[in-house]
Amino acid sequence: MPPTEYDIVIIGSGPAGATTARVAAKLGLRVLMVDKRQELGAPIQCSGAVSRHALEACGVIPVAEFIHESIYGFGIYNVAGEKTTIDYRQLKPSEYGHQNGQKPLGYVVDRRRFDRHLMTLAERAGAEVWLKTEGLSYQTDGSEYCQIQLRRFNQPIQVKAKVLVGADGLQSQVGKWAGLRTHIKITELASCLQFIVDGVKTDGLLEIITGHHWAPGGYAWVFPKGHGYAEIGLGVICTMTKKNAQWHLDQFMQQSFFKERFQNARILEIQGGGVPLAAPLRTQYAEQVILVGDAARHVNPVTGGGIHTALSGGVIAGEFLAKLIKSGAPATAENLKGYQDSWLDQLGHKMWQLYEEKTQIFRTDDIDERDRLLFQTMSQYFSPYSEYKKI
Ligand SMILES: Cc1cc2nc3c(=O)[nH]c(=O)nc-3n(C[C@H](O)[C@H](O)[C@H](O)COP(=O)(O)OP(=O)(O)OC[C@H]3O[C@@H](n4cnc5c(N)ncnc54)[C@H](O)[C@@H]3O)c2cc1C
Repeated sequence: MPPTEYDIVIIGSGPAGATTARVAAKLGLRVLMVDKRQELGAPIQCSGAVSRHALEACGVIPVAEFIHESIYGFGIYNVAGEKTTIDYRQLKPSEYGHQNGQKPLGYVVDRRRFDRHLMTLAERAGAEVWLKTEGLSYQTDGSEYCQIQLRRFNQPIQVKAKVLVGADGLQSQVGKWAGLRTHIKITELASCLQFIVDGVKTDGLLEIITGHHWAPGGYAWVFPKGHGYAEIGLGVICTMTKKNAQWHLDQFMQQSFFKERFQNARILEIQGGGVPLAAPLRTQYAEQVILVGDAARHVNPVTGGGIHTALSGGVIAGEFLAKLIKSGAPATAENLKGYQDSWLDQLGHKMWQLYEEKTQIFRTDDIDERDRLLFQTMSQYFSPYSEYKKI
């Protein structure tokens, strides 16, 4: 029989859960992490772009095992195809490149291998991991441990934890069980679709195409995928268009200023999913519960990127819980508020600021003005002088 009592039980082993598990276990907590999937990261619902800084700052060494391709900068396009290039190989040639001593700015990672790698790091740090195990519910009765109901390989099983961590992604069930307001407005949920294609050239840049005409409420992208492949995708806000993401992606591929570039594209895979372009949850804790990653909406509201913020949130959560539990203090909602305060200080206030900027852009009904503002914001966001570098 496996032990049934833990300091923390984490539901969800994506980047947020696996990082919380690794950091907490390394600091001496008894950790169980469960995931309902039998293969982590699959089916893939992510383009996998993440900065090198983000990985290194969160204690993840970039290794070939999970890297599809190295990234050196950005190409930001306005609706008409005019481009701002931010290529760090040209801006800082002594630092960025692929020669001796030079490094990439970031990577496109393989989410299957990346998530498995993060899980392995958590296990090696001492966390226990159960795959094919679904979190079903939890109860708290004011005692030191809450009860968590799981289904493991179709068998019910109950475990106890001082703190339950919801790292279960967008529309978190754990958050709902705890009575937190996890519901996301449809006006702030981007519906994303991407094709993995062969036959489209890329050059180490993440290309971002703005403009209501191509992606209402969001943007389109072309990312290098390694081995000559590319990802072509976009996200749209459903309330800003009568068509679906697939229609817009077809239009973008067939009608945009890239149509010649895409003419030999052969689609190898189709992936999709929802991305919150929303504010972080106002309350990310309850009695014996915290949320981290997409579950707490730790997602960049302008770019929709959530890997970096999931990793950073995981570090903050793991460190906070280790300190709290080792101090012997009870995991009351009042004490767990310290996690959110720490997250706000390190990341959250900046994310709120970004959310305000995004809201400002979409407040105007003038589409040309909106396009201009989004292009400008994206260009500034990715520039070397961005105040949001760490998000
Ligand atoms: C199309 C698309 C493209 C994207 N591209 C990028 C990108 O290029 N760069 C970037 O930074 N971000 C990107 N994102 C966002 C990024 O994928 C997420 O922000 C990130 O995965 C969040 O990590 P997480 O650990 O919080 O949640 P997730 O990665 O969603 O992990 C949640 C885990 O919880 C598990 N789970 C859920 N419920 C239960 C349950 N009841 N019991 C057990 N397990 C459960 C799930 O199986 C899953 O493994 C993209 C998203 C989409 C949809």
